[in-house]
Amino acid sequence: MSTGMSDVTTKDLIAMFDAIGAMIEANKGHLSELDGVIGDADHGVTMNIGFSAVTEALAALDTSATEPTAVFNIAAKSFLNAVGASSGPLYATAFMRAGAAVKGKASLDREAVVETIGAMAKGIQDRGKATRGEKTMVDAWLPGAEAAEAARDAGQPLEACLAAAAAAAAAGAESTKAMLATKGRASRLGERAIGHVDPGAASAALILATIARTLAPEGPL
Ligand code: ADP
Ligand code: MG
Repeated sequence: MSTGMSDVTTKDLIAMFDAIGAMIEANKGHLSELDGVIGDADHGVTMNIGFSAVTEALAALDTSATEPTAVFNIAAKSFLNAVGASSGPLYATAFMRAGAAVKGKASLDREAVVETIGAMAKGIQDRGKATRGEKTMVDAWLPGAEAAEAARDAGQPLEACLAAAAAAAAAGAESTKAMLATKGRASRLGERAIGHVDPGAASAALILATIARTLAPEGPL
């Protein structure tokens, strides 16, 4: 298969997961604080546990003998085994779908990266049954994936597709402030959830920003 100079390799994906782990670690307190307002105050901790397990499992791999699909499948398995909270199966499904989206590929071109982000967003939606506007991580993942697809359809390069995804996810996370929650723990709060950002949407925006920064380091981010 053809591998362009800027195609994303197994090594790049592992570096991406390492960077996501570091980003979550740095924002652990902030994410748990957000969850403390509308949930049970553990989101930063659970995401940190999950991504620590992922980076540990990936560090043990022989990158030259591992395809991108295996990176995502190992990430899915480690995240699911490590995380008991609702974000566990949601991200495990996202990574499993990403693994399926890149099956058979030695590296990922722009099309494959955009497809992978779309597959992750779809996986989270399918697993959690949340639609847009229910104050969950879907409110960051879905607009993020759609923005990447729109940029791709407009013929934009990978950097621009990822920058668009990150910006749309950040705006989506911010938009959860105004929403009532109808899924997850925050749904018990009713109107009291209004005015507060959903923690899962906040971490999703951080993840998409980190994906943009690591997979397209030459880009506008
Ligand atoms: P828990 O709610 O079990 O403590 P976390 O605190 O790790 O799990 O994650 C909470 C986040 O999970 C919420 O902020 C929300 O974004 C997301 N979430 C919860 N339920 C769903 C769902 N059904 N679909 C999508 N996302 C959800
Ligand atoms: Mg929680």
